[in-house]
Amino acid sequence: MEKWKRILAQSVCSIDELAEHFQLDAESLREVNRIFPCRIPRTLLAGLSSPSDPLARQCIPDPAELSGSEDLMDDPLGEVRFRKSEVIVQKYPDRCLFLVSGECAMYCRFCTRKRKFRQPFVITRKDIDDGIEYICSHKELRDVLISGGDPLLLDDEKINYILHGVRQAEHVKIIRIGSRAPGILPERITARLVKILKKYQPLYMNIHFNHPDEFNGAVCKALKRLADAGIVLGSQTVLLKGVNDSPEIMRELMWKLLENRVKPYYIFQCDLVYGTGHFRTSLDCGLKIMESLRGWSSGMANPHFVIDLPGGGGKVPVTPDYLLHRSGSDCHYRNYCGEEYIYPDVTAGD
Ligand SMILES: *Cc1c(COP(=O)(O)O)cnc(C)c1O
Ligand code: SF4
Repeated sequence: MEKWKRILAQSVCSIDELAEHFQLDAESLREVNRIFPCRIPRTLLAGLSSPSDPLARQCIPDPAELSGSEDLMDDPLGEVRFRKSEVIVQKYPDRCLFLVSGECAMYCRFCTRKRKFRQPFVITRKDIDDGIEYICSHKELRDVLISGGDPLLLDDEKINYILHGVRQAEHVKIIRIGSRAPGILPERITARLVKILKKYQPLYMNIHFNHPDEFNGAVCKALKRLADAGIVLGSQTVLLKGVNDSPEIMRELMWKLLENRVKPYYIFQCDLVYGTGHFRTSLDCGLKIMESLRGWSSGMANPHFVIDLPGGGGKVPVTPDYLLHRSGSDCHYRNYCGEEYIYPDVTAGD
């Protein structure tokens, strides 16, 4: 058995073991676990010093998950509404999601698709074939985003089958894979896997990272292997209370990403998902982080901060406003230090 499969098979899913490891109250966690199960790779658990460790907060069940709020929903992104087949979600004119895997190496407590932990969904060969057929017959699709769950938890052969299928559509110019595996289960990035991925260029990979502590020797090596294969790496980060809701941590994370050849792409406002309310931050918190990046750090370290609108509206950018006011054609801006400068705009007819 490959090493990564062995690690997965030995993941910690037992509340009693977890409670004992961290000296937590097993009774209250058992209740959470009944609704939102837990899964943590043992390799990762070994590195966690306490339940308040930033990575521990992302994976250890918390009784706060059971306190609902009327704002929270099961399917906040309205994915059910935009579902075109069992595995395709298309909301935008030129790109779609292809959900090929129901599994993840770790169950993130804040996951948008948390509703699915309860009944991990099984994706059949027919579902995959229907998805490929949808992609092949929709000529407007230029960009296919392979996601899940985590697509990299599939076998090499299945990944090859899916990528090969999508590449049959000549109108699809780029393929993107969304995964958290390089950071959570770096052993998955084997030479054999990378050799398969490399065949399907142009291939982009958006990797989920939330905290600078998620980088270690094995993770950096996995990222290097992907980058050396010419796969363009981007990041996705979820803004989480108690994990990364400070300018200092975010700045450090953005730099860790860049140093490892990952271009920061998105910071997401936490979605309104049942069982995740305790991770929510205010929009001002995110705006403050964005202001702390712009100008103070390389433009390369500036991702887009977005809300995926409830109800299925798609992603909208949330940006600090640098325009103070206009007087005639003069636009008065503040710069990153708060100093005022004027940009004279052209007026209509000039
Ligand atoms: C996020 C998302 C995409 C990709 O959006 P980009 O802004 O192009 O990265 C595509 N389809 C759906 C349904 C999405 O949620
Ligand atoms: S890796 Fe992504 S899809 Fe999987 S549980 Fe975490 S946030 Fe959800």
